[in-house]
Amino acid sequence: MGEKRVVVAGAGPVGMVLALALRREGIPVTVVEAGSTYCQEFRAPAFHSPTLDILDGLGMADPMLKIGLKVPVMRFADRALGRRVDLDLGILGDRGLTRHPYDLIIGQSAFAKIGYELCVEAGVEFLFDHRVERAEQDEHAARVVCQTAHGQVTVAGAYVVGCDGGRSAVRKSLPVAFEGFTWSERFLMIHTTENLEPILGKTIFLADGPDWRLVLKIPFGPGPNDWVTRLVSSLAPGISEEEVSDPAFLQKRFDGLVEGRTAPFPIRDYYIYNVHQRVASSLRIGRILLAGDAAHINNPLGGQGLNCGIHDAVNLAGKLGAVWRSEAGPELLDLYDRQRRLTNTEYIQKVSIENKERQEEADLVKRAAAMDFMEQLARDDDMRVGFLTRWTMIDSLAYANSIT
Ligand SMILES: Cc1cc2nc3c(=O)[nH]c(=O)nc-3n(C[C@H](O)[C@H](O)[C@H](O)COP(=O)(O)OP(=O)(O)OC[C@H]3O[C@@H](n4cnc5c(N)ncnc54)[C@H](O)[C@@H]3O)c2cc1C
Repeated sequence: MGEKRVVVAGAGPVGMVLALALRREGIPVTVVEAGSTYCQEFRAPAFHSPTLDILDGLGMADPMLKIGLKVPVMRFADRALGRRVDLDLGILGDRGLTRHPYDLIIGQSAFAKIGYELCVEAGVEFLFDHRVERAEQDEHAARVVCQTAHGQVTVAGAYVVGCDGGRSAVRKSLPVAFEGFTWSERFLMIHTTENLEPILGKTIFLADGPDWRLVLKIPFGPGPNDWVTRLVSSLAPGISEEEVSDPAFLQKRFDGLVEGRTAPFPIRDYYIYNVHQRVASSLRIGRILLAGDAAHINNPLGGQGLNCGIHDAVNLAGKLGAVWRSEAGPELLDLYDRQRRLTNTEYIQKVSIENKERQEEADLVKRAAAMDFMEQLARDDDMRVGFLTRWTMIDSLAYANSIT
């Protein structure tokens, strides 16, 4: 009976959305997770309009809306030029392109909790403390070999999907390259308990050459104090973790954000991330598939990695459903590979690199031109729709659907 299920490796956000979507297709699912519970990381907070439309279909949007912060206006500012532009996402709703014309900001841990509870309710089986060492397959089944406290355990299913993150053990078991590059700088993410929303807005992309910053407020629970303000900035190559750990170094990242402010900002925690642009050379080898960060990773400016992983998950669940019910042959899963891999390569990688380059531009003439362009977007509805459908990934879903 082991083959009569799909095995999902990784109880991260993508693994849980996939598990839930598979259950909605009537497929039994077992999730194996290395940790002792589902992923509690605090990384990805921004959920774009079409992703919210999709999550609504899985029953996830309502509980997210109870906790999250709606951001109907994206704010771009340039410190040296003293200019600021607000782009209103409402036009996406007016044009019937989404039922959620805003970004929703919610801590990834809160999102994962909602996903986990819905998965349990839907009958997903979770095996925690099961670290996948490798994935294997034959003509009839696919398996993950896991390390547990009681030794090696093999979990088999008709298909295995690797949702086990950027360092995916499932991907590493396959003859698949993880093509792309790693940026020389890293990103530094600092959380403060100071509320900057009244001064800076809910989310602000602040251009300042290499000293650019992104500041946003992130709710992570239902309580009045369940939020942090996150400051994201770039960490030049050569800066050591010891230097970063100096409270004065962390405080300096807040310089100039609040006019006349001299008092230190209360720091809750901070994280350093390597930043990559990589896509697996195939998302399907036989009965083993890849989704989310296991399949592709990109820099987080514009918040596209997890959104893209969720788009993978629902695309794959629909196709596995059709194969499961014998409405289509397994070759349909090659279409998943083409649609999601090409969309990532041709769209997500390019847009996320554009976002990063726009954010860190040092040339003041180019920055003035970028602000002129943003002002034009704010005035011209058609142009703004063009920009926002790219930014919110509405275009990426249309592009994926156009691939046959
Ligand atoms: C600073 C930062 C900000 C970001 N902001 C955004 C944003 O706003 N919007 C957005 O869309 N994206 C954002 N991202 C990207 C986003 O965090 C990732 O795309 C997302 O977490 C990927 O989810 P995942 O489930 O594929 O992988 P992960 O979140 O990495 O989860 C993988 C899961 O697999 C488990 N696992 C790992 N190895 C094994 C193993 N061998 N066996 C079993 N289990 C295993 C892990 O414990 C974990 O539970 C951001 C990233 C960073 C670094």
